[in-house]
Amino acid sequence: MQTVGTIAEMRHVIADTRAEGKSVAFVPTMGALHEGHLRLVDEAKVLADVVVMSVFVNPLQFAPSEDFARYPRTLDDDSRLAAERGVDFLFTPTKEDMYPEHAPVVMVHPGSVGKEWEGAVRPHHFEGVLTVVAKLFHIVMPDVAVFGQKDLQQVAAVKAMVRDLNFPVGILVAPTIREPDGLAMSSRNRYLSPKDRELGLILSKALFAVRDAFTRGERRASALEAIGWRMLERVVGLTPRYLAVVNADTFQRVNNVRHGDAAVGAIRVGETKLIDNIIF
Ligand code: AMP
Repeated sequence: MQTVGTIAEMRHVIADTRAEGKSVAFVPTMGALHEGHLRLVDEAKVLADVVVMSVFVNPLQFAPSEDFARYPRTLDDDSRLAAERGVDFLFTPTKEDMYPEHAPVVMVHPGSVGKEWEGAVRPHHFEGVLTVVAKLFHIVMPDVAVFGQKDLQQVAAVKAMVRDLNFPVGILVAPTIREPDGLAMSSRNRYLSPKDRELGLILSKALFAVRDAFTRGERRASALEAIGWRMLERVVGLTPRYLAVVNADTFQRVNNVRHGDAAVGAIRVGETKLIDNIIF
């Protein structure tokens, strides 16, 4: 594996790769890699000749009150894990290289896809995400990029951007990887104390209960949301933020739930925000 530290070098590497007639799959991350990220690499390897992974903690998608400064940065471990898993190029740009003017003047707005749920809890978050993804796509110029279902609203926003702005990039979505007890893997899980981790488990349990009720035949979104919401509310020591049944592409709430719709949820435990979702 080759580590590529600048945009200029990445452009050279990609030009050489293209000249050799090789296809490129891209896995963007913020590092603190875990098995969920590494499964995206597995998917990427099947799709193209060369796999580029980026590790960049994007300041643009964090609000001033959020955890940008303390977000886990574990580049040595990330580098070893990525190499072991078969990443060809690890792209690790600095924020000065990505944002020489501090903040870009032009940003990509997610529109209605990014308005509710995570978008409401974290104003400007998806603008930051889409802007960095657009930049990374222009730098890496992949044939295909792999994203995790774990961040389903991000997937919907990226797909909408690619469609509406005609990016020549295929988007593949890989399933959410979970711990054996159901907790969705996340770089932020390492913030959780054992007690908070125990409390946080209710989010996946609530979403699984919602899915079970759908399987038993319940199709009213309000009834499904009430099942999940009641489970979250019963737990003392956490703050439920949202739990909703939505169309997985538009992220608009639905009334009558169909296969392919999603239940999305978020809670705060202590200082840590957890998100998760299931697709019916
Ligand atoms: P992040 O580093 O958290 O920004 O995530 C980078 C990519 O990994 C995104 O496409 C995420 O959706 C994906 N990802 C994060 N956690 C998981 C997980 N538990 N399972 C599958 N994909 C994940």
